[in-house]
Amino acid sequence: MKLNTNAKVTWCPGCPNFGILAAFKNSINDLVKAKEIKSEDLTIFSGIGCHGKITEYLNLNTFTSLHGRAIPLALGTKIANPKLKAIAFVGDGDVYAEGLDHLIHAAKKNADVTVIVHNNQVFALTTGQFTPTSPKGLKSKSSPQGSIEEPLDPLALTLSAGASFVARSYALEIEKTKKIITAAIQHKGFSFVEIIQPCITFYDTREILKNKIEWLDKKYKTNNFYDAFNKISKSKNKMLLGIFYQVKKPIFEDEV
Ligand code: SF4
Repeated sequence: MKLNTNAKVTWCPGCPNFGILAAFKNSINDLVKAKEIKSEDLTIFSGIGCHGKITEYLNLNTFTSLHGRAIPLALGTKIANPKLKAIAFVGDGDVYAEGLDHLIHAAKKNADVTVIVHNNQVFALTTGQFTPTSPKGLKSKSSPQGSIEEPLDPLALTLSAGASFVARSYALEIEKTKKIITAAIQHKGFSFVEIIQPCITFYDTREILKNKIEWLDKKYKTNNFYDAFNKISKSKNKMLLGIFYQVKKPIFEDEV
């Protein structure tokens, strides 16, 4: 199906956000073709940041929300009409700063919502300030002598909060990212997908990531919280990618 819109794409040329957009469109096309979803049942939300423009580039039911507020809109949609599929695109500055409480509570509720994070470890739309996932020491416009804070671990956080699907991917690996997005959309419950997305203009991590990224073993699959937590904690020096955890649990809107 035609998922493009006529909106002019204003991401920087070569921005890895294009990889996320391509992976998502491929995933939706596969799911629609397989009759697993109907495009008219999809509701797509975004927050504020470079990621937020993605809603303009998708010919689906989309809504660009306020900073950090994509998740409560997705949650409200599911409560009003549980048959719809709700997907929230968010950015690291957007969801781990302003919107952090919404992320934690949506995970805790296990609402049937998919959250896709464009994590570039910097506030890019405002031209480069450190975010909760920036590494300690990062020199940015708001930390000229280097950030003095340790970064947040979003996977450990959402797993602890109650997410029933936790995964991480890399924006430049489009096919693998598509598969993870598809698995997250197929999952019934709160699915959290963090996508590492270097900002090639304000914080280009592509070279650093070359030696850091590593995919989980193909056979790795767990519904054991502690196994998943250990796997996530051990991945501190590496950037481990893949589906860390998936479990069946009661869904918030069913319980409501
Ligand atoms: Fe992409 Fe960074 Fe440009 Fe934003 S500023 S469009 S994240 S490269």
